[in-house]
Amino acid sequence: MTKYIFVTGGVTSSLGKGIISASLGKLLQARGLKVSIQKFDPYINVDPGTLNPYEHGECYVTDDGAETDLDLGHYERFLNVPTSQANNVTTGKIYQTVINKERAGDYLGKTVQVIPHITDEIKRRMLLLGKTKELDVIITELGGTVGDIESLPYLEAVRQLRRDFGSEDCLTLHLTLIPYLSAAKELKTKPTQHSVKELLQTGIQPDILVCRTEKPLSSEIREKLALFCNVKNDAVIEALDAETIYDVPLLMLREKLDKIVLKRLKMKGKHPLDLIHWTEFISKLKNPKYQIKIALVGKYNELPDAYKSIYESFVHAGTVNHSRVLVEPIHSETIHYGNAFNIIKDYDGLLVAPGFGERGIEGKLAAIQIAREEKIPFFGICLGMQCAVVEFARNVLGLKEAASTEVNPETKHPIIDLMPEQKKITKKGGTMRLGSYTCKLLKGSISREAYNASTISERHRHRYEFNNEYLDAISHAGMIPTGINPDNNLVEIIELANHPFFVGVQFHPELKSTVENPHPLFVSFVSASLQYHFRKKDNEEKVTVT
Ligand code: GLN
Repeated sequence: MTKYIFVTGGVTSSLGKGIISASLGKLLQARGLKVSIQKFDPYINVDPGTLNPYEHGECYVTDDGAETDLDLGHYERFLNVPTSQANNVTTGKIYQTVINKERAGDYLGKTVQVIPHITDEIKRRMLLLGKTKELDVIITELGGTVGDIESLPYLEAVRQLRRDFGSEDCLTLHLTLIPYLSAAKELKTKPTQHSVKELLQTGIQPDILVCRTEKPLSSEIREKLALFCNVKNDAVIEALDAETIYDVPLLMLREKLDKIVLKRLKMKGKHPLDLIHWTEFISKLKNPKYQIKIALVGKYNELPDAYKSIYESFVHAGTVNHSRVLVEPIHSETIHYGNAFNIIKDYDGLLVAPGFGERGIEGKLAAIQIAREEKIPFFGICLGMQCAVVEFARNVLGLKEAASTEVNPETKHPIIDLMPEQKKITKKGGTMRLGSYTCKLLKGSISREAYNASTISERHRHRYEFNNEYLDAISHAGMIPTGINPDNNLVEIIELANHPFFVGVQFHPELKSTVENPHPLFVSFVSASLQYHFRKKDNEEKVTVT
């Protein structure tokens, strides 16, 4: 029998419901339980694929090609278990299903209403994962904040499920904020009391309060919260600001969150807690021997969430290389041919980020040219790979007008072009090349060595692709296609023959890096950057000595 944990948020957004859910999931998994985490988002977009990264951060893609909320990235990075279409549901999806059913005549004769039709569809989807997989626990994170108009149907669905299941099979955890007023030198509980009242109005009594706070909660504050919010004293959990998100499972362990959950759900772990791998990872993370600096050239730099998985992949790959990786975002619109050398030369590696549209492209090309010519390690992801191909075509093959047709549809040299199946597509939502595809790696390539495998599978999200008409030309000039899709011959990876590390990938490796399995390409990029860092230092020392 699967048990259900619902995670709601109060007082303000951005409290880290995703991290708390992933941390609790990790602690339960570390006791041998099978856990999955899903997110229900109250917005009306059918999925976040059509959202600008400024709106909602990165769009995370699953193996089965769902465009989802970035919290699913945290779930995978913490649990090391892939998520799927079913793990992210939006109000748009719910309404789409109900309206399609209404048009098909499934509710014939009935008035279709929020209760019961929308709430029934929410409940069906909340239980779906448990029906398809053998799971001990499903954690459901509700997006938004208690009190939002659009959250109401979700809370109503949770209320009904709590009634259907009873208290041993499901519980609600409410994440809230305890603000510190520096003028009064006091932590304040009132916003939490109000938020719990708001939740009670929907018929839900939270079982556990997780309290985000900058200062430790005194026993008086805990008792006060427990009394006013009607929870047991030990169910008031302190969630202090953490140095890194990866500390949160250990902080929750110290607060005994997992034990309280297990006791409340009348469950037992399958074995004693095993977090050895996790604690080793943290110890490497906190005690690096070396430090390198990577330039992340992209155009959504104002919002670090836009490149969330890339930043986290560097954290994972850094620990494998005993290195702290400082990733410095550089806005591609600030780079041009005049200043690119001076900007890029100070870094140990260059990563050119994924993206869409023509804004900032010239800056990316200028940065790549420097990395190519100066033999600075380069890693291009999706649009970053496409830019590497365009730069090479223009400056090595001499095809000055080479471009992606995304940027210049009229170009004489469409070296990056729409895939044939994309040409007839007019709808924007869910129509890119999405999800996992197989790729064969060339013997002797950097990628083959990094993966230590001849065939891999990686996740995609793009419409444009390398144009195979230019395959011979680039190969002869030294840009080698080292990863090919065996089913349709699309070029998925390019490398430069005479460069220590110049790798461009059409897929998104950052979506598959986890604490347990740091991504091999990030690991080898960090390792190449570290070697470059030492070479640069050696040369500097030689120059000073002579
Ligand atoms: N805009 C490019 C394409 O659609 C790259 C997409 C990306 O970087 N995810 O092919």
